Amino acid sequence: MARDAEARRPAEGSAPGEEAIRVLDLYETREKIYTRTLPGFYREVKKYTLLPLMLGYFLSPWLTIDGRQAIWFDLPNRKFHVLWATFWPQDFMLLAWLLIICAFALFTVTVAVGRVWCGFTCPQTVWTLWFLWAERLWEGDRNQRMRLDRAPWSLEKVVRKGGKWTTWLAIAFATGLTFVGYFAPIRQLVPDFFTLDAHPAAYFWIFFFTLMTFMNAGFLREQVCLYMCPYARFQSVMYDPDTLVVTYDFRRGEPRGPRRKGEDPRALGLGDCVDCTLCVQVCPTGIDIRDGLQYECINCGLCIDACNAVMDKMGYPRGLIRYTSERAIREGRTRLLRPRLLGYGVALAAMAGLFLWTLAHRLPLEVDVIRDRTLLYREAPDGAIENIYVLKIANKDRRPHRYRIAVEAPLPLELRGPARVEVAAGEVADFPLRLALAREQLEAPALRFRFRVAAEDAPDLAVSEESRFLGPAPGGGRP
Ligand code: SF4
Ligand code: SF4
Repeated sequence: MARDAEARRPAEGSAPGEEAIRVLDLYETREKIYTRTLPGFYREVKKYTLLPLMLGYFLSPWLTIDGRQAIWFDLPNRKFHVLWATFWPQDFMLLAWLLIICAFALFTVTVAVGRVWCGFTCPQTVWTLWFLWAERLWEGDRNQRMRLDRAPWSLEKVVRKGGKWTTWLAIAFATGLTFVGYFAPIRQLVPDFFTLDAHPAAYFWIFFFTLMTFMNAGFLREQVCLYMCPYARFQSVMYDPDTLVVTYDFRRGEPRGPRRKGEDPRALGLGDCVDCTLCVQVCPTGIDIRDGLQYECINCGLCIDACNAVMDKMGYPRGLIRYTSERAIREGRTRLLRPRLLGYGVALAAMAGLFLWTLAHRLPLEVDVIRDRTLLYREAPDGAIENIYVLKIANKDRRPHRYRIAVEAPLPLELRGPARVEVAAGEVADFPLRLALAREQLEAPALRFRFRVAAEDAPDLAVSEESRFLGPAPGGGRP
């Protein structure tokens, strides 16, 4: 939102007292957020969600299965290896379904518990927290950081800022290198990078992602959530009155105001909020949750920790800020099971089930039949009518296979070409074939039939592909 920072100044050349020009600044100047770190339940939860995510990101490309990188998006060869499965461009429908399922999962979780994805698992949140840790390491807590930023440049400031930026850069570089390691074998990429033997494209992308991580987690931080992330805009649209979100209980908290410990707030005409602003100081997006539900809130729960600590100190019950719903604040209860949430849940379960079933029954074999387009048919020296095909066999399995090629047709089509072929693991091979039929057996100018390709060493691995056999019309005309 643009801030209406306005100023009045006299028009150039105008005498004092004459009409002033009104200057409107439509762009908000960012105010740097210095977050305070306070211990608490949700900060602990973050630790246990962030750590496995980080480890998963950095260690996954180093995993090897059957001598090959377990997660490897091999773009030049258009193969995407994920654990034991290899996906080909033909499987992009599965990827599209996976993305739809992920989007639906996000909708379902958002309807149930708000933007917990943003608060606990989004990479922007995860990396920003890591960078904040480095910031605290070099520059100290909130007040020390504010003092350091206000202080003039000195040797100490250079050392502290330099140390912080170096640590950020190291994290960003590890992130960029790992990211590219998902696309180029990481065990080769890392030594190649340092011996300057890596591909120029690898250098470009590593530096690009290093820079992006450095900027996003180091400087842009909450601005990515506020101005760049599309989820921030539409996730809150999914809320309903029963969605559990971080909420300030204004009925209990207001009127807010300071008081001494032990004083009865009711006697002072006050609610439970002591107006200490700790909930604002810990907020990574710099908002005041007491102003009500805001799209900037990422549901991270850090203000709950801060407020609970204050409540404990004051001897008040915890939960002035808590995960609750709008209905619970108004009516004292939340409907956990509601049609919208159930609908999302059922749709998600059905889609996920169907996806897993498809994945489990996906055959690692694909066959394409390409007819010779230059020649509809030809007459062989023995008088039979011949059609020419190319059989494209893609062995998507992790081991080589021998395949038997057969023809399933209502007429005795003779296969003239290799009936048994071998295709290496993860390879596509073309096999030119001819099919022949005695002219007198031709009953129609076009005959539908199927090529059947079956692995000899795996009885269930078989694919049939339909094609047409063309010949002269039985009366002598063209098909
Ligand atoms: S208001 Fe609370 S839950 Fe929302 S972003 Fe700020 S600290 Fe996190
Ligand atoms: S932390 Fe709690 S008591 Fe302090 S200002 Fe925020 S809501 Fe009020």
